[in-house]
Amino acid sequence: MEIKIELTKTPKAKPTDETKLGFGHVFTDHMFAMNYDTGKGWHDARIIPFDNVTLSPAAMCLHYGQEIFEGLKAYRTADGTVQLFRPDENYKRMNVSAERMVIPQIDEEFMVEATKKLVSIEKDWVPHTDGAALYIRPFIFATDPFVGVRPADHYLFLIILSPSGAYYSTGLNPVKIYVEQKYVRAVRGGTGFAKTAANYAISLKGQDEAHNQDYEQVLWLDGVEQKYIEEVGSMNIFFVIDGEVITPKLTGSVLPGITRKSALEVCKSKGIPCSERRITIEEVAKAYDEGKLDEVFGTGTAAVISPVGHLKWGDKVMTINDNKIGKISQMLYDTMTGIQWGKIPDTFGWTVK
Ligand code: PMP
Repeated sequence: MEIKIELTKTPKAKPTDETKLGFGHVFTDHMFAMNYDTGKGWHDARIIPFDNVTLSPAAMCLHYGQEIFEGLKAYRTADGTVQLFRPDENYKRMNVSAERMVIPQIDEEFMVEATKKLVSIEKDWVPHTDGAALYIRPFIFATDPFVGVRPADHYLFLIILSPSGAYYSTGLNPVKIYVEQKYVRAVRGGTGFAKTAANYAISLKGQDEAHNQDYEQVLWLDGVEQKYIEEVGSMNIFFVIDGEVITPKLTGSVLPGITRKSALEVCKSKGIPCSERRITIEEVAKAYDEGKLDEVFGTGTAAVISPVGHLKWGDKVMTINDNKIGKISQMLYDTMTGIQWGKIPDTFGWTVK
């Protein structure tokens, strides 16, 4: 499919102070758009000026939430080259989400090309500051003007770009995590593995209560017995117990993170023992009491690696590794960000110029 390009006549001023970017506030001059109509398929791929979208108040996405999205980043290397990190994995996951939400499949290779095209048009928006990057948000939503529950016949696919600041302005910082015991994020047979708006709407209440207790994110337990650990608000979770790296296995209720997958591959390449298995919060607390809980960290596109300094489960507050950054957390952070920002050779073949 050809991508039509219409450039803006009124480019915006780029942010002058990249340390003040934050996350998700600033958007670039252009966006990618493509429509789907039943019988016609995906059509009219275009790059157009970033602008508001006109929707009927009856648009199906606004009522029943038929929507999916992705999140990845473009990084500027020291020689000024801009590169993406495993974009094929994002579009592969997007098709898995699409299948679950009865949204039509996309052409993954075409979408990687479309992303490259859009980012190359917006290359001057890719931040120059260490740790800052251009966040890429592809998403698809149902647009039929119809108030009724059924899969839509019409969809809009957009990609918007947002220059974002370094997640940790002062290097890696341990976060405080709260184990949610009342609410659940996903259930057996539900949508936990899909990147769909509903999973995030459902998480807000627990997140709100965690914030009220001065905790940053929620650690979700399984939705059946509330016993097994699943993942954090926007990260997968890892434990290092007695030298072994353990992360919950993908049972259908956990989002298969691309950082998670990459972290496992890095650990394996360095000969660090790892396992993907079910792990209960009791097992983690027991390892803590026995002095065997070496490290806890989250993985995700936003922060790459987030060491967990405090883990609160009911009345028990576990201080992990003295609230300091562990060896494996630091090694993974250095390796992954090194590859992303082109500071070390990409021996895995993950980056796309
Ligand atoms: N879990 C959830 C619920 C998330 O939203 C994210 C962020 N996409 C992750 C895990 C981490 O996934 P990734 O490494 O692909 O960013």
